[in-house]
Amino acid sequence: MKHILPSLPYSHASLEPHIDKRTMALHHGKHHASYVANLNATLDNFPELHERSALWLLLNLDKVPQTIRAAVRNNAGGHVNHSLFWRTMSPVANGKPVGALAEAIDRDFSSFELFKSQFAEAGEKHFGSGWVWLARAQQDGGKLNIYTTSGHDNPLMQGHFPILLNDVWEHAYYLNYENRRGDYLKGWWPLVNWEEAANRFERSDQSAEQAWETEGGLVPDAETV
Ligand code: MN
Repeated sequence: MKHILPSLPYSHASLEPHIDKRTMALHHGKHHASYVANLNATLDNFPELHERSALWLLLNLDKVPQTIRAAVRNNAGGHVNHSLFWRTMSPVANGKPVGALAEAIDRDFSSFELFKSQFAEAGEKHFGSGWVWLARAQQDGGKLNIYTTSGHDNPLMQGHFPILLNDVWEHAYYLNYENRRGDYLKGWWPLVNWEEAANRFERSDQSAEQAWETEGGLVPDAETV
């Protein structure tokens, strides 16, 4: 199985002005593409592992030889997270959550406005490269929480099911926002695809891996060779 770069579901320019065309072109066509290429290269001499999905690899790092474990963690994580990230955004986003997800956000963060400010603050304060997430906890009755992860780690590695994510690596915003990560995070909300987030939320009470596997497209594209 060869891991492949998924197509973007919209054009590079269509998220402007919040995310500029050149950032999107580099982020998808260079950064994400390099994680895919590096993952394939890393697994070249490990045919049994090359049969596995990027998500499986990320959740089963103890089965990956020590010599390639860090490379698999970084590149499989980069592939999974970016594949999810592109689908978290839409040029025709609908502004705010509805239905069961909206109720859960109100319940666990008091209000949508408070949730947004806490999410942006967590992302802004995260030290170095990483991601900020809204995810559903495995314990606590499935409470929604804000998490940050370093590198390309994913909350599923701790059993928490991801609903929403934003990339706080400098490559996600630096061309347009320079050092102003907070401005990038605060300006990002109009792009959020809440329909996609609501779909994930509805599946998040299954076991993490099962929910992920049954939702088409959340496992990054791969092709059989
Ligand atoms: Mn990125």
